[in-house]
Amino acid sequence: MSEALPALKPSSPATHYSKDQLTARSRYLTALLTVAEVATQSLDIEKILNDTLDKTLEILGFDVGFVRTLDRQNKNMLVRVARGLRSPEFLAGVAPIGAERRNVSRIVFETKEPYICIDIRKNPIYKNRSMEQDGVISTAAAPVMSKNRVLGIMVVGSRRLHRFRKREIKLLMAFGSQLGAALENAELYQEVNKSKAYVENLVENAADLIISTDLNDRILTWNRGAEVLFGYHKNEVVGKHLAILLPSERFHELEEMRAKVQISGALRDIEVRSKRKDGVMIYLSLSVSPIRDLQGKIVGFLRIAKDITEKKRYERRLKELDKLKSDFVSNVSHELRTPLTSIKGSVENMLDGLTGSLNEKQIRYLVRIKSNTDRLSRLINDLLDLSRIESGRVEVRPTRVPLTALAEEVAEHLKPLATEKLIRIEVPSPDPSATVWADRDKVTQVLVNLIGNAVKFTPQEGKVTVALEKSDHDYVQISVADTGPGILPEETNKIFSKFYQVTNIAKQKPRGSGLGLAISKALVEMHGGKIWVESEVGRGSTFYFTLPAQQPFKLEMPAS
Ligand code: ADP
Repeated sequence: MSEALPALKPSSPATHYSKDQLTARSRYLTALLTVAEVATQSLDIEKILNDTLDKTLEILGFDVGFVRTLDRQNKNMLVRVARGLRSPEFLAGVAPIGAERRNVSRIVFETKEPYICIDIRKNPIYKNRSMEQDGVISTAAAPVMSKNRVLGIMVVGSRRLHRFRKREIKLLMAFGSQLGAALENAELYQEVNKSKAYVENLVENAADLIISTDLNDRILTWNRGAEVLFGYHKNEVVGKHLAILLPSERFHELEEMRAKVQISGALRDIEVRSKRKDGVMIYLSLSVSPIRDLQGKIVGFLRIAKDITEKKRYERRLKELDKLKSDFVSNVSHELRTPLTSIKGSVENMLDGLTGSLNEKQIRYLVRIKSNTDRLSRLINDLLDLSRIESGRVEVRPTRVPLTALAEEVAEHLKPLATEKLIRIEVPSPDPSATVWADRDKVTQVLVNLIGNAVKFTPQEGKVTVALEKSDHDYVQISVADTGPGILPEETNKIFSKFYQVTNIAKQKPRGSGLGLAISKALVEMHGGKIWVESEVGRGSTFYFTLPAQQPFKLEMPAS
């Protein structure tokens, strides 16, 4: 505003000011201060406009005046407040600032300078005569400005011919700037308030619980989601300690949580149990984050939570059902095994001639019974294995196992089956250094399943190759390849699921349980390894699996 100060010209070279100069300057500053005070007293835009215009008219001694401001689209200036002007044409008149036709609003907007008219009756710019209807003759307009941006114009007028003095125009300009700054402030304040209300509304109406606490876990805000979840109304809990949501023996958890958030920055989706107003315990998935002030200091905590009680109930029920199913499978399997063993024993005795001589037909029938009881007992063993693995009753007892040597042993064991179908099983150059850190029996079981499948699904005169693929510091990878029918790409993942069988390959009826690969996958994964297949229909399949090459931690004993 300093540029609007009347210049103080010393009357003598010894920098002395005249009394008049000093009085004028002090009056000027008082006027500025008065309007500044009025303009900044409120954040209500209507009040600012009214009070500033009134004070301006009072100080400058006019009884006609008005303020126009830009509309939302910044296209027109509209009358916001007026004194001494009643004509409806004037009050409702729109002053376009981008129009062809010149008007006072547009000139002031473009030049950012005052516009003075001693006699509006003679100025073609006022040709719509709306102000004349109220008897106005002289007017002066100044921009309402903030940071060099014109927000509107402030105009004072007289019903008598008036020659505006420099001092009046300077003051009018200064008041325009005061009003501009005050308006901008108020608009910013309203913007902030609007955003604040928007965020508050979001928080209030969110379906999730959103609450904030101070550093001592005293509740500061409590949204509607929290009300629904806990049954407490905001008025019952704001100001209370968060401990009301916990049974007393778990109060210490709050302190632990605070410490964790302060150390790690935030807690995400942790499962906690809380107590509702009616005493019922509920499960929540909770995230806690710190609330910081502008300096970054933690001043409180924000908690967002979702009710997962139903989900937990389902999970528990599913677990129970799963256990029931596993128990059932394991009981039934055990029950089936006993009669099966006795059937198998009796058939074997009969085949061994213990019940007298047999004719050819009887032998054929007994052999068929034996092979089917063998199949049944394999199926039962697989079912028992899987139910034991699934219920976590299987332990891995790792030792150092020479993998390729073991593969050769398994291949040797399966040779009779392969020879029947004229299939060659090859284990090229077993590498004794390829050892894995694994449970020998379980690795044997995986190899029996994979090599057994390869032999089973490969047609006559095919080939099965067991090879060491990769061996490094961490993992050993082995492959079992066959020249069988192959597996469709969309089924390569499914075959590792329980009971899944590809029924149409080679148009033969599958003669397994559909459990071998599911068991193999579980066994490999128990070791921290992976199993997968690559296959091309008509060309064959290659199954791969990996096992850890060595013990995860090796204890070095100090030499004594
Ligand atoms: P099973 O062999 O007892 O049916 P698995 O779990 O061992 O059960 O195998 C599941 C299915 O995967 C098999 O029924 C078969 O359809 C397919 N499969 C497994 N190994 C091979 C293979 N080497 N070649 C083609 N298909 C195979």
